[in-house]
Amino acid sequence: MIGDRKVNVFFDDVMLGHDPQVDLPFLPSRVEKRVRSVLEGLNFKWSYPEHPGRLSAIKQYLDENPVPGIHLKSGPRATYDQLSRVHTTSYLDHIFSMAGKRAWLDRDTTAVSPDSIEAATTAAGNAIAAVESVVNKEADSAFALVRPPGHHAEPVRARGFCLLNNVAVAAAHAQAKLGCERILLIDWDAHHGNGTQDIFWADPDVLFFDTHCAAPFYPGSGHLEDVGAGLGEGYTINVPLPETTGDLAFEKAFREILIPAAEHFKPDLVLVSAGFDPHHNDMAMNLSYNGFKVLTSIVQNIADQHCEGRLALVLEGGYNLTSLSRGVHAVLEVLAGGEVPELQECGVQAVAEAAAFHRSAFVEDD
Ligand SMILES: [Zn+2]
Repeated sequence: MIGDRKVNVFFDDVMLGHDPQVDLPFLPSRVEKRVRSVLEGLNFKWSYPEHPGRLSAIKQYLDENPVPGIHLKSGPRATYDQLSRVHTTSYLDHIFSMAGKRAWLDRDTTAVSPDSIEAATTAAGNAIAAVESVVNKEADSAFALVRPPGHHAEPVRARGFCLLNNVAVAAAHAQAKLGCERILLIDWDAHHGNGTQDIFWADPDVLFFDTHCAAPFYPGSGHLEDVGAGLGEGYTINVPLPETTGDLAFEKAFREILIPAAEHFKPDLVLVSAGFDPHHNDMAMNLSYNGFKVLTSIVQNIADQHCEGRLALVLEGGYNLTSLSRGVHAVLEVLAGGEVPELQECGVQAVAEAAAFHRSAFVEDD
């Protein structure tokens, strides 16, 4: 029943401070010239898609439709030392020097506003706090509702609206300070988690499983053959999927690839880079709210089976505000012990009902 399991949800208004408004003047640079010329060439007015309204929409929907068993919390900002487990010090020095400024960080349109560094370190800190709360058994699971997102951020580079790799910072913290030895990191965002893959590419202690829309869809990485290297060979699992992939195919990937991999790996902590852009309202894929519920129950079962339920989710993308807020809500219902639906191909249930409705017109009663 919903409410049977305790879920800590991490949120902090500080993360609303990251707000790159492209009409305002940015620091002059080569990247600035490049991005401006691209934006001027568009035949529509571009605004920064990863905006504060994403988090406020989730918070508002949760306030209006509370989920029993949910406890709202906030964590401290991540420290320089915590971040330096996955980012180089030269990158961090550059990022920290951007405090108080407006600037483009990457030509893929990743930018900062004056309060972005505080927001980004708060996002990474709340991902850490979520992991600490499940490892310390304060809750059955945790969900860090954070932004800017993290999974595109590489050790030395901001990309794809991501400044700091929140989930990777949390995983590295769990290894360094919380006694976790084998971490299963699942990324179901529609985009490949290139940054997370890079960070743990040669690490046999982090099993990275990523379903995503296949290249050339952004960021263009995550090929089937990319399986890690060195000691980490075999510990990166990419499942590139065609556009419009929906519930049944996602469920099949999780049941037929993720579950056996987890069985073999035996994680002592499960983390999820939870993006809501695979929802059919968003851009490329066709997941429904029920689809998100089933994926959540599969990862929850893996955590229950292998690591006493230790499961933490960290928000990544999701740009349609309706499916973002309702998707998070659907996931929280399952985390809190709610019912898990059976999946059907989209429309099958409606056809069954229509058939029952029309049947009497064409079929003689017995
Ligand atoms: Zn995404």
